[in-house]
Amino acid sequence: MAERNTGELMEKIVSLCKRKGFIFQSSEMYGGLNGFWDYGPLGAELKRNIKETWWRSMTQLRDDVVGLEASIIMHPRIWEASGHTSTFSDLMVDCLLTKKRFRADQVEPQSGLAYGYTGAKNDVKESKDVFSVLLPPGKPPESARKVATQFYRERGIENPVLLGEQTEKVENSQRYNPENGSLLTEPRPFNLMLKTYVGPVESAENISYLRPETAQAIFVQFKNVMEVSRQKVPFGICQIGKAFRNEINPRNFTFRSREFEQMELEFFIRPDEAIEAICGKVAKPATTGHPGEPQANWGWQMWHQYWVEERFAYYESIGLPRHTLVEYWQKGDELAHYARATVDILYKFPFSKRNEAGELTGEELEGVAARSDFDLSQHQRFSGKQTIVFDEELKGAWPKLDDGKKAELSLRFFEARQKYLLKTGEQPEKSSKQAREDADNLSKGYYVPHVIEPSAGVDRLALALLCNAYTEDQAPDEKGKLESRVVMRFHPRIAPVKVAVFPLLKNKPELVKKAKEVRDILCPHLSVDYDEAGAIGRRYRRQDEAGTPFGVTIDFDTLGENGEALKDTVTLRERDTMKQERVKVVDLLNALLGKMR
Ligand code: ATP
Repeated sequence: MAERNTGELMEKIVSLCKRKGFIFQSSEMYGGLNGFWDYGPLGAELKRNIKETWWRSMTQLRDDVVGLEASIIMHPRIWEASGHTSTFSDLMVDCLLTKKRFRADQVEPQSGLAYGYTGAKNDVKESKDVFSVLLPPGKPPESARKVATQFYRERGIENPVLLGEQTEKVENSQRYNPENGSLLTEPRPFNLMLKTYVGPVESAENISYLRPETAQAIFVQFKNVMEVSRQKVPFGICQIGKAFRNEINPRNFTFRSREFEQMELEFFIRPDEAIEAICGKVAKPATTGHPGEPQANWGWQMWHQYWVEERFAYYESIGLPRHTLVEYWQKGDELAHYARATVDILYKFPFSKRNEAGELTGEELEGVAARSDFDLSQHQRFSGKQTIVFDEELKGAWPKLDDGKKAELSLRFFEARQKYLLKTGEQPEKSSKQAREDADNLSKGYYVPHVIEPSAGVDRLALALLCNAYTEDQAPDEKGKLESRVVMRFHPRIAPVKVAVFPLLKNKPELVKKAKEVRDILCPHLSVDYDEAGAIGRRYRRQDEAGTPFGVTIDFDTLGENGEALKDTVTLRERDTMKQERVKVVDLLNALLGKMR
């Protein structure tokens, strides 16, 4: 992929998505709505397959994770507790000339000569608005004056005389609009939550938010779910659902949208002090790679490593090779204040930035965060309801510890709780008192669970799979002449259509009848596309573009016209190898299911 012209490649993918019905612009008939997308027939199947494979691997194949489907609009206090009301914002800047809005950190850094003006006037009016324009090296000063003239004209000064022109050399500045050189406003925060009113009165008390993530619903239902599912820590709750963010600059096709779907797991674990009390020692990662089956003595670091590796394994299982992914450890200053570690799993999208070696650096598909006990503690404080759990094993283990160990673990736990409380703005005295109570509770078997959170986006993954699948190659047409074809090389597990069934000729009722019988055998188990229109080569091409991994052709051999040996057999063709084999109709379903595993 590195050597491809990535801009052009992305254009081809976007155009194929529309042409084949993977993704359409939302509200297209009305000119579209920026940041919103609709999935067409193939896209809807692709998304379903993504969600199904995730759900299956996260909960159905595990006995320590259960599912949840919560409402999108929740009590507004939840967003105060989670910090979204106060801090879920991006810095935005506006172009002083065109008013176009940018996310401050996404403005491309510019260098050149900045022409500054203290104001402008004409015979009747004067403006003291300060303005400047950045010109790249080599551009004549007239261009700056033209932009500045337009700026003052828009402030009501016809034929302005520019005042106080000064120049200044500027290096790598994000203060100017890369499109026209105009100065941008000072950065200011912009909350990304979409607001609405619940109930008939549009008043301040009725303000609610469309959830910006699915995670918080899991935290606030944690106690209910734990009780009904008879789970014990360590265990997880997972959820797939819509999330909404009023992104300042939706871009890169569906990558940054305003409405999207998330697949999140909150995996609750014991605090390390509880594990040490129970197991004597906390296991820490000794090597990189998958640490194997979970063990009772795993602390948060082992669990974090485990989930990072599980998630990479998932991506590989649906056809994203490891070399297309990047494991990015967030640096100290990038981490949320409560997070102990976060690994972002990046995919090398064609629109990703390149490093000095020219390699794509990747964009986030998923974050795997070790979030300490922050979330459940916050909801405990804000709701006044307990989120602590009782741990029988801890209660039994504590009295057996010697006094030195008890004191050491209590102190460590006290310090961690005190640090959390002070960070939330609690008074030092109150924090110490509360933290002492928490440490005392630990010795009786009670604590707020910690959490590891793998949080992924369905739409970003769909886009990664589309980019990864897109290939162009040469294939022979009916007469054996090579022609170029577009093939979507989806892994069979996530391919929107698994198998296409073709009667060789549409005007032979016996062939059509037999082909429909074959379709009806497969339909209850697999997504099947029955296609009888056009030459067989064209039908193959159509399916190649849809990414259908298998094609089944019913011909005269199937009808027994060329002898008993081939009667009731069909041709099974593989998309990637174009290899064809003869398979008995009775064996077809099993043969296909076997190839899909
Ligand atoms: P980014 O830094 O790219 O804005 P984020 O770190 O804010 O993402 P999280 O809050 O960790 O993202 O959300 C978890 C996942 O949800 C992301 O890894 C991504 O897959 C998905 N996601 C987040 N924002 C968007 C969006 N605007 N459009 C599509 N998917 C998104």
